[in-house]
Amino acid sequence: CGIVGYIGHREAYPIIVKGLQRLEYRGYDSAGVAIFDGEKINLAKTKGKVEDLKKKAESTISLKGNLGIGHTRWATHGVPNDINSHPHYSNSGDLVIIHNGIIENYESVKKELTKRGYTFESDTDTEVLINLIEEVQKTEGVKLGQAVQIALNEVVGAYAIAVFDKKKPDEIVVAKLGSPLAIGVGDNEFFIASDASPFIEFTNNAVYLEDEEMAIIRLGKEIKLRKIKNDAVA
Ligand code: GLU
Repeated sequence: CGIVGYIGHREAYPIIVKGLQRLEYRGYDSAGVAIFDGEKINLAKTKGKVEDLKKKAESTISLKGNLGIGHTRWATHGVPNDINSHPHYSNSGDLVIIHNGIIENYESVKKELTKRGYTFESDTDTEVLINLIEEVQKTEGVKLGQAVQIALNEVVGAYAIAVFDKKKPDEIVVAKLGSPLAIGVGDNEFFIASDASPFIEFTNNAVYLEDEEMAIIRLGKEIKLRKIKNDAVA
């Protein structure tokens, strides 16, 4: 399983797909991408190989855009199929997530969110997490980075995640516990991946997140690193 992301001035899709291919050695059963085209998120995902994803994406969606995330899934919750593949949207359609790992207490969180009116398309633990982030964003009125931090303090599990909000398309939030996550820092552009192989040709400046660490990656800014558990939410 693997994750790839890009924000900057280049076309995101080719970087992401090539990156996913470089991460194929990690094993997976499905693959997907979400690209922000300046107005909306275009998403394609499928059970099968990155090659199958390429065919599907290139024949069904617009692939233009300088912000995107891509995923190869190794199913833990929900069978390998197109719907359970990542990325997953939140209920509003504004947030999108990719996740490697497991959210162990997803059932109780899902129950609570269902009571609050949330619905779920997939059987994944991941779709529960993105809706928890959305619920925190709404009820606490906080920024995406803060919402991710608060939500991660409410879940038990392991993860490498990348999230973005189409209302704030200059930013990607990532977090790690258990699964690996590297950030490639370029000249006002950032790469995200499970290891450095997807971005090694663009930059040799890599930041490896520690366990229980998250990063707010914003264009034009230094990466903001934070301890998920200890640092004040700010
Ligand atoms: N637990 C998530 C799922 O089953 C992520 C699996 C993975 O690590 O790829 O969808």
